[in-house]
Amino acid sequence: MTQRVLIIEDEPEIAAMIQLHLDRAGFQATICDNGEDGLASIAAHAPDLVILDLMLPGIDGLELCRQLKYDAATRVIPIIMVTARGEESDVVSGLEMGADDYMVKPFSPRELSARVRAVLRRRAGDLPEVDESTAVSGIQVNTDRHEVSVDGVSVDLTLTEFQILRFLMSRPGFVRTRDQIIEAAHGPHVVMSKRTIDVHITALRKKLGRAGDAIETIRGVGYRLESDVIATEP
Ligand code: CA
Repeated sequence: MTQRVLIIEDEPEIAAMIQLHLDRAGFQATICDNGEDGLASIAAHAPDLVILDLMLPGIDGLELCRQLKYDAATRVIPIIMVTARGEESDVVSGLEMGADDYMVKPFSPRELSARVRAVLRRRAGDLPEVDESTAVSGIQVNTDRHEVSVDGVSVDLTLTEFQILRFLMSRPGFVRTRDQIIEAAHGPHVVMSKRTIDVHITALRKKLGRAGDAIETIRGVGYRLESDVIATEP
């Protein structure tokens, strides 16, 4: 069945470019040029995925994201945010509200369809959960025994480092914000400075050796574990 993507974007050229490439990639893409029409369209016929520009007239992208994630009927619809360069703080807010991914303009059509496929695959449950059989970039995690190895060699991590790594590995290829990492490592309502997370990440990278390079810093936003899983096109 053809998967439907709703593009909410007020710049006609960008919207048309996204639509063209998604149609070519085998999706059925429709465009709304403002948030109000976008919400109405989603209510009338929920799409499989939303591509959401953050800077929109009227209801902006962040508010729209908040509304979609607040409503149980629309919460499950994956959202990929589209932003201009320099809007990192909005990206952080969007990811923390539950958006699945983001792209910074200008982006390539190839990146776009790869991101859309990755998010949809993830939602469909086609990507493996992290368990002893999961290896990403040579890193293997055994969640039951709290063991980590790189290329078969065991690595000794602190509990916090282990939890951070496991969290990053649970969605390889996707950016996690510092606050999301803090919550994953220590639970909600824990006050911890973002700098502390940076220190843990630095230590974690060092212990992982060669594989530590797979933990990528996304300036102003958070961290991402580069993935050999996501990079594979079907
Ligand atoms: Ca815009």
